[in-house]
Amino acid sequence: MSVRAGIVVTGTEVLTGRVFDRNGPWLSDRLLELGVDTAAIVVVGDRPEEILRALRFLAGEDCALIVTSGGLGPTADDLTAEVVGRFQDRPMVLDTALEGRIGEILRPLMARWPDLDQEALLASNRKQAVIPQGAFVLEPVGTAPGLVVAPAADGRRGPVVVVLPGPPRELQPMWSVAVSSPLVRGALAGAVDYRRSMLRLFGMPESAIAATLRAAVDAGIELERLEVTTCLRRGEVEVVTRYEPADASVYEELAALVRSRHADTLFSDDGTTVDEQVLAGLVSAGATIAVAESCTGGLLSARLTELPGSSEVMRGGLVVYSDEAKVALAGVGAEVIAACGAVSSEVAIALADGARGALGADVGVGVTGVAGPGGGSAAKPVGLVWLSVSCGDGRRLTRSVTLPGGRSDVRDRSTTVALHLVRRLLAGE
Ligand code: ATP
Ligand code: MG
Repeated sequence: MSVRAGIVVTGTEVLTGRVFDRNGPWLSDRLLELGVDTAAIVVVGDRPEEILRALRFLAGEDCALIVTSGGLGPTADDLTAEVVGRFQDRPMVLDTALEGRIGEILRPLMARWPDLDQEALLASNRKQAVIPQGAFVLEPVGTAPGLVVAPAADGRRGPVVVVLPGPPRELQPMWSVAVSSPLVRGALAGAVDYRRSMLRLFGMPESAIAATLRAAVDAGIELERLEVTTCLRRGEVEVVTRYEPADASVYEELAALVRSRHADTLFSDDGTTVDEQVLAGLVSAGATIAVAESCTGGLLSARLTELPGSSEVMRGGLVVYSDEAKVALAGVGAEVIAACGAVSSEVAIALADGARGALGADVGVGVTGVAGPGGGSAAKPVGLVWLSVSCGDGRRLTRSVTLPGGRSDVRDRSTTVALHLVRRLLAGE
């Protein structure tokens, strides 16, 4: 077994779901890259007793390292440093040099808001310079310093604790510094140098991969040497495999089997996403793209502009939610809508061509569907989406899907289906 670590995410706002936890999973993923298994992510409110219990629980789980997030600010409910000091049997002491450095960070702030009570500000930030004796200080990215705290030197064995602030843009760079500190390196020595590979498939159920894994065992592939996890995400099946470098050939056998059994649905074996493949495909074809979307209301345009570099290929998008907008902006014939309905192959085709024409793009995409929860009928149930992708040279792919889930699932999945159609068209299918 590899080295284990634990994560304590503090904050009543995270516990109650008002703020979505962006630190626990992020840290867990970084630890995984280092070959460290995360035993658990424990989310607790801003209460010292709960934070202490969480630390004790994780220490009892054989964690060599515990990382905490949040509770390092200047206010009275920011108590993590003190609790970690207590946990590691270290008295709290004022680091005057650190206090000076925090003062320097605050100086421009105080100049900008001269009405603030300067004395109170300095006093509350003095609190941030009170740290467990002997702790290694991680310089603040905001105003709160982070800490690396080892158990007090009384021969007690136990985890090293890395204390990081809550705001992700502060936590992330400070984690990089913490990782290279001698204490953390010592705690993580002996972590196995795993490799991680990913296969992505689209247009098949997760159960098909389960069947392939059984076939792999039957074919004598030593699956027990690999840690394979599959998950369904945004309508795609992701197969993530972790293995030791010595077992790379076993992984290659598995990947070859997946390639042969799922040639029509496997679209990525190098970690690339469909978004990246579409962008790269358009760039290498020297082609531009434009979209006209109804049920997705701009989500596809957002996805096509998410990656840096998309301005090279993305001309723009029309959000044509009403019939009138489809006619006025995308040039869909009113008689086509009247005859076939807004959710139809004919309208999807007209939207794709209309987007291309209106925005002068090489590739056009049209999306129209019933996102629900209302508006469905026996002939056109909730989840039915028509999509069309067309090129100026006459190539075109049009298809319908009936997507499961609620309104936001249908809208999100539609963008995935659209991107795969574009990928297929670019691949010459
Ligand atoms: P500050 O000096 O900003 O108070 P802090 O270390 O005390 O820093 P917290 O008070 O716990 O951090 O959190 C401050 C803000 O950072 C939260 O209100 C929230 O917006 C964000 N934040 C904290 N923890 C998380 C988290 N796990 N995921 C996402 N955002 C978080
Ligand atoms: Mg705070």
